[in-house]
Amino acid sequence: MRALAEMLSAGDVTSVELVQHYLDQIQSTDQDIKAFLHVDREGALQAAQAADERRKAGTPLSPWDGIPIAVKDNICTVGMPTTCASRMLKDYYSPFDAEVVTRIKGAGLPILGKTNLDEFAMGSSTEYSAYQITHNPHDLTRVPGGSSGGSAAAVAAGLCPWGLGTDTGGSIRQPAAFCGVVGLKPTFGRVSRWGLVALASSMDQIGPMGRTVEDVEILFSLIAGYDQRDSTSCPDSGYEFGNESLGTLAGIRLGIPEEFFGEGLSPEVAARVREAVRRMEDLGAEVRPISLPHSAYSIDTYLTLVTAEASSNLARYDGVRYGLRVEADDAVSMFKQTRTKGFGPEVKRRIMLGTYVLTASHHAAYYEQARRVRTLITQDVESAFEEVDVVVTPTTPSTAFRIGEKQDPLQMYLSDSYTAIANLAGIPALTLPCGKDKLGLPIGIQLMADHFREDVLFWVGRMLERSLKEADSSGRI
Ligand code: GLN
Repeated sequence: MRALAEMLSAGDVTSVELVQHYLDQIQSTDQDIKAFLHVDREGALQAAQAADERRKAGTPLSPWDGIPIAVKDNICTVGMPTTCASRMLKDYYSPFDAEVVTRIKGAGLPILGKTNLDEFAMGSSTEYSAYQITHNPHDLTRVPGGSSGGSAAAVAAGLCPWGLGTDTGGSIRQPAAFCGVVGLKPTFGRVSRWGLVALASSMDQIGPMGRTVEDVEILFSLIAGYDQRDSTSCPDSGYEFGNESLGTLAGIRLGIPEEFFGEGLSPEVAARVREAVRRMEDLGAEVRPISLPHSAYSIDTYLTLVTAEASSNLARYDGVRYGLRVEADDAVSMFKQTRTKGFGPEVKRRIMLGTYVLTASHHAAYYEQARRVRTLITQDVESAFEEVDVVVTPTTPSTAFRIGEKQDPLQMYLSDSYTAIANLAGIPALTLPCGKDKLGLPIGIQLMADHFREDVLFWVGRMLERSLKEADSSGRI
């Protein structure tokens, strides 16, 4: 992104040209990828025009003024639909911008459009979108991952330079890994959720996706920081871009939890991740085996909590205040028919499961139990960070699977086996590409750090990325 910013500031390219370039790419390629649910040609070009005028007047809003972006369609935007890829919110227009949207507009970023997702961000492939399935740019017969599959595929296919996603259990990191891009799930409380359509409020985070660690770091610096309208927002949580990373990883302790390298992990993914660990060791990092003994329960815990919170958050779609309404003779039938028609099968499954785990008779056995296990998992993570700076794992158990391959929802849920732990514990986690499998599909490595230590993730991530790039160009991988 620095190169683009320099070209803009030198006058080698205008924002209008840049936006036009991405619109042309979308026009020619997105019929195959299907990353966008909505493209805002006019709005993006207008914003670009304004950016160019500011440049001319010598008053750019930021070094990134005029560089366009794509936004996941569960983040509210004025002037564009916000559908959450659900029939329930078909043609819904938010009357306000999400705080992150206000911030990116404040930095001068024109918004190209809204990207596809699994309905209400529930899923790992975008196959649960009510509108379209997004295809993985590396192999169109495969999924891009989910739920932020639209943003990941758009970045990977060069339809936008960077994008915003959301991550409740892995929805930024898993698609980033499947599409060979970089993605960050920030510390819980560091990026405002004001204007994010809620899935599970104790875990949802908005985060940046891009082609390089540096791009993700820049975008993170634009969206991080306190917002009084989000009651979970942390004071002094802003992030300043610009700390040059040191030349080595000396002094960095990497923890390798063996629980994440066992059953269910593709040998090719394991091999690439272990190779990346050796690379970081060569750069000076110290590698230590660690244990996160309760991590085996993270998926069960996550699913219990995510369904419970979703069932409560989605109660607002009743046909009264916004979204779809199916008219009926009385109010209760109207609620029923609206919800029957408006929600897809995965959303219904989760609402039912979530309602069940919250019922008076099962609350203690499921919901309360899951909260207790969440505490144990969080304690595991806290003690790990007493010993190490970064926990390293694969991002996903496998590379991108084929469209239609995972019919069993339980199989789909296992996609989040390695990512949900960061949401449960509220810690930041970065994924970056660390090679490909023999089919040429990207493999992601996940780096997790303690609360508010995104700086460490960016440092280690950048060093690893550079080392992988050097090896790549010398033909060693
Ligand atoms: N794939 C996970 C799920 O289906 C994650 C969703 C998310 O992070 N939004 O719940």
